[in-house]
Amino acid sequence: TNVGEAVDEASARQRDHRYVWHPWSPVKETAGDGPILVSGEGYRVRDAAGREYLDAMASAMNSSCGYAHPALIAAAERQLSLLPHFDLSVGTHLPVGQVAERISGLLPEGLGRTLFVNSGSEATEAAVRIAHGYWRNLGRPRDRIVTFAAGYHGTTLVAQHLSGLPTNVTHTVDPFPVTRVELPVPARELRAPESLPPLVEAFKRAVLDGAPPAAVFVEAFLNVGGGVVLPPGFLRALRELCDRTGTLLVLDEVFCGFGRTGRMFGFDHEGITPDLVTMSKGLSGGYVPFAALSTTEAVYRSFAADPLIGGLRYGHTTGGHAVACAVALAVLDVLEEQKLVPAAAARGEELLAGLLPLAEHPEVADVRGLGLVATVECRRPEFAAGLVARARERGALLRRQGCSVMAIPPLVIDRAGVAELVRTTGRALEDQ
Ligand code: PLP
Repeated sequence: TNVGEAVDEASARQRDHRYVWHPWSPVKETAGDGPILVSGEGYRVRDAAGREYLDAMASAMNSSCGYAHPALIAAAERQLSLLPHFDLSVGTHLPVGQVAERISGLLPEGLGRTLFVNSGSEATEAAVRIAHGYWRNLGRPRDRIVTFAAGYHGTTLVAQHLSGLPTNVTHTVDPFPVTRVELPVPARELRAPESLPPLVEAFKRAVLDGAPPAAVFVEAFLNVGGGVVLPPGFLRALRELCDRTGTLLVLDEVFCGFGRTGRMFGFDHEGITPDLVTMSKGLSGGYVPFAALSTTEAVYRSFAADPLIGGLRYGHTTGGHAVACAVALAVLDVLEEQKLVPAAAARGEELLAGLLPLAEHPEVADVRGLGLVATVECRRPEFAAGLVARARERGALLRRQGCSVMAIPPLVIDRAGVAELVRTTGRALEDQ
């Protein structure tokens, strides 16, 4: 087993408190008080004190194939020893072409051109720049983006600017116009078929009122926005609206992509073809930073009109890193060989069925899910925080987004793991 070395927990904690700036964490002594994780295997992680946790956060919702997967480690080691990376603005390397071809084979016909970056936020940044650039290239500039107020697309300045979530609102100058659509009904009612007409109407108004938008930019499931399931037919209606108004449709698949919702992509539930797709988390399964953006040949070719370089003036030193490409290729093999996408659908059904009875608890407002992600929406954020803390004491790491407690285990979780997760969450709800 993958036990890791003996760790001096106190000095590790002290060093962390003294030197590390933790993202999304308050500035105070507790900033480094999360578990000190030293190793992982499958869907479990182990801390410095030797305690094991069932990781129902999948780290940052990106550990799809679980920890210590031998095929992923081997792929990274092999590519590291051959060639770690080479600048893709100058030359190319073998794994980037291979992984671009594999991704295009998984996406709907027509999305055959892929740009690689390092994080979901960078993929958002690139998608917005490409959408803006496309319209400029055609000689008909469009800047406005239509999106969900409760959407989340990352935290670079551009990505953060898309979201209307209170945690994402910045005080900087608006870099471009954004219309953020509020949910017409509470999150817990949105998945009902009756919510479809008011939601579509809200997007229709947002698209038609004002300057023609460059793009409609959405997730297929509002993850950070509270684990919100959208009503069936929504993405199809959005596709029709975009077709009718000549607007680009961008699907942010950073969270949903590569099996999380029980299909390869979240939009596969609706059988639509977006114009741009962003991907990250599940693509490299948390082993290395990696992200991608795929689009059509028409969007790509339009950049020949750029007056300075006849192409996209955008890229990062480590974009399309060869080790990340090699790991992603291995991830795609693992998804296929271990049949992890249908497994996510099956385990997700078991997870939701197990958690549904918790909806009877007076502190719980709703239990919902899609694929292998389940949301227990509590009535109060403090209760949600307590539930997460008590589950951790009992050996399961759950994620909290406001009032929502989310179970998002690695896709490799087995039936016994799901049963344990259901049991632990139920007991954590009852203890107080
Ligand atoms: N888009 C979605 C849907 C996400 O869930 C996230 C991260 O949680 C991002 C974008 C941003 O990705 P990153 O944190 O890699 O920048």
